[in-house]
Amino acid sequence: MLATSSLKATFTKLPNEAWGVRITGADQAPLSGDQVTVTTQAGEVRQVTIAEVLETSGSAYVCSLRPSPKPVARRYIKGGYFGRRFECGECGDMVFNGSYCWETGLRHGWNNAVRD
Ligand SMILES: [Zn+2]
Repeated sequence: MLATSSLKATFTKLPNEAWGVRITGADQAPLSGDQVTVTTQAGEVRQVTIAEVLETSGSAYVCSLRPSPKPVARRYIKGGYFGRRFECGECGDMVFNGSYCWETGLRHGWNNAVRD
């Protein structure tokens, strides 16, 4: 967990067109799984999770992000209830059916779900 008062994180476009973050003022290099609070230009505060550090320049780090489960509109689709979250046995996150798993790179399905 990165915890410094001087840490500053801003959203930045990555070479692959995905959104990442640029972190400055960190005491140490961010690690995969670290959670960082980003304030957007609109003043919105978002919590993101680092996937990996892509680039280091001086004390600035450009990092890719783990996909965060977005609240999706609950709706029924053919054969099932879409939009209910479950715990993935691979990545350990609470995920939606059909979202991509950062651990396996595949889409989440009920077969990934941790069962009691
Ligand atoms: Zn997963």
